Amino acid sequence: MAAHGEFDHMPDLAIFADTGAEPDVVYEHLNWLRSGNVLPFPVHVISAGNLNDEIHAAVKGTSRIDARPPFFVKNEDGTRGVLRRQCTGDFKIDPIIKEVRRVVGLAKGKKGPKAPIVEQWIGISRDEIQRVALSRVKWIHNRHPLLEKLERGMRRVDCIAWLLKHGYPIPPKSACIFCPFRSNAEWRWLRDNSPSGWQDAIALDRALRDPTSKITLLGTLYLHHSLVPLEEADISTDEERGQFGFWGVGEECQGMCGV
Ligand code: SF4
Repeated sequence: MAAHGEFDHMPDLAIFADTGAEPDVVYEHLNWLRSGNVLPFPVHVISAGNLNDEIHAAVKGTSRIDARPPFFVKNEDGTRGVLRRQCTGDFKIDPIIKEVRRVVGLAKGKKGPKAPIVEQWIGISRDEIQRVALSRVKWIHNRHPLLEKLERGMRRVDCIAWLLKHGYPIPPKSACIFCPFRSNAEWRWLRDNSPSGWQDAIALDRALRDPTSKITLLGTLYLHHSLVPLEEADISTDEERGQFGFWGVGEECQGMCGV
């Protein structure tokens, strides 16, 4: 929309924080965006590492599982818990701030100004307005341009309508293939649209319960909220029941993972 002159000014650049664990179709879409024929500004791709590899390494004992995705936990008494999420901060928010510091020339460790010198646009739509958050640092001001459009902000369906009207493809949802923040409909989407991503998610789900795993957390870890192996989970019924996912609408990676 900025490229079409629909906002007061143009971003200098966009940033994609890559966890190394997106479905293939997300990387294909990203490559298209970066092809030079789509956006009049560059897309910087940065990464704090491969989150999928880090978790497999934690199972083998060669890495710690510090950057925890919110895996479900079956406690010893059978109750369900969930790990405290740390991956968004470690793999999304912190690397983005680091890249913005680099771009504006703010040296590592140097305190930023007390007033904003950067306007950071985040594409949160009206249906996920609860994801709106203040910037963690005073020198970055968060702006949500989609909420400024239409009378009460653009909804996801309005974004799709805009894209179709201008002849653009519908972007796939960006999220790690193993992210437990998924409704059953979204698990089905992964299974049906990214066979390799689905197989990788199953492999990671199994690895979490490998008897030789070096992960020392109490309880048994699962990707699916029903606390059964992913390939056995009933992911076929949410839409038929007219229900949303376990997490509810818009409950996702703090506005950072759904690019
Ligand atoms: S998509 Fe999920 S697993 Fe990946 S960084 Fe975001 S919350 Fe963590």
